[in-house]
Amino acid sequence: MKKFEYGMAKNLAGAFEFLKEPDAKIKAGGIDMLDLMKEGLESPKRLVNIRSVQALNFVKKDEDGNLRIGATTTLAEIAANSEIQTGYRALAQAANAIATPQIRNVATLGGNLCQRPRCWYFRSADFKCLRNEGDICFAEDGENKYHAIFGNKDDCVFVHPSGTAVALMALQAKLVIANKKERREIEIANFWVTPEDDVTRENILKRDEIVTEIILPPTQKNTKSFYFKQKEKQSFDWPIADVAVALEMKGKTCVGSKIVLGSAAPIPWRIEKAENVLQNKTISVSLARQAAAAAMADANPLSQNGYKVPVFKAVIYRTICRATGIDPFAA
Ligand SMILES: Cc1cc2nc3c(=O)[nH]c(=O)nc-3n(C[C@H](O)[C@H](O)[C@H](O)COP(=O)(O)OP(=O)(O)OC[C@H]3O[C@@H](n4cnc5c(N)ncnc54)[C@H](O)[C@@H]3O)c2cc1C
Repeated sequence: MKKFEYGMAKNLAGAFEFLKEPDAKIKAGGIDMLDLMKEGLESPKRLVNIRSVQALNFVKKDEDGNLRIGATTTLAEIAANSEIQTGYRALAQAANAIATPQIRNVATLGGNLCQRPRCWYFRSADFKCLRNEGDICFAEDGENKYHAIFGNKDDCVFVHPSGTAVALMALQAKLVIANKKERREIEIANFWVTPEDDVTRENILKRDEIVTEIILPPTQKNTKSFYFKQKEKQSFDWPIADVAVALEMKGKTCVGSKIVLGSAAPIPWRIEKAENVLQNKTISVSLARQAAAAAMADANPLSQNGYKVPVFKAVIYRTICRATGIDPFAA
């Protein structure tokens, strides 16, 4: 790791002041940032700690009924928050399923959304891949067991790593992004950058910008959300397939839905084909299975990850069932 200056911001203004150094990078919990620095993927001249900014750690309702979450709120705090558990269940479940208790106590929501890909070629000093100043995606024809089955025709086939992003997409969250001079609010769906658009970045953030808040729309009593993460091993592990659904119900009829896949594509991947199957229908195990089949209709597995298709089918239908309180294993 190269030498660097360390700026401990006390407030947002202080953080932006530290970020004036052109070679400065943000650290929140530091779980990913420190790994990136040790791996030589990041060598900032100055590291700006924003986890020390108390004003970015909160969960509160605003006057319009939105739930606002400060970007440095930890994953453990989100998982334990009763308002999130009841009104935005998929987010509490996603936060609670990430990594280990120790990591969840330190990692922040903003950092989780902005973490960089975990593709083993990108993370290895031995490979200069497309995303790391090279000109080839080694995973495309190489070891691609954990890689993308959607959005993988553009030469960089990593999967988006954030579990909370999947839930926040299904819950139609917005992000507040700020720099020293201004702040803007964007739909989370517009935050991600695909490899086709720019292979060197995963989101639209500019160097001097900070995600300050995540905004969830007011809870609707009839919206049922659920997140499920399928791991290869049952102790802490990354997902091989994760799914978040948010279903708007009128009695037993689904009148609107969002179904989003994680570990499937370079961005959290919304599956409108599956949503259409549920529209204005009574949810049942059989309908949920049809939606799962529709979700996988356009999958494009690589040489080693064809197994993800049946895994996703199972995870999607079970998640739809669980969101609505149906036993997925009923006949
Ligand atoms: C063993 C292990 C297992 C894991 N399993 C999972 C898993 O199953 N699911 C999952 O989702 N994650 C998993 N992770 C990843 C981990 O959850 C993330 O690294 C962590 O959430 C990052 O949050 P942080 O606050 O530490 O971010 P940092 O490491 O501080 O920052 C990460 C990146 O985001 C940028 N950043 C941070 N905050 C902001 C902000 N507010 N605005 C703009 N940019 C910002 C930083 O500059 C950096 O580039 C795992 C990690 C480990 C080590």
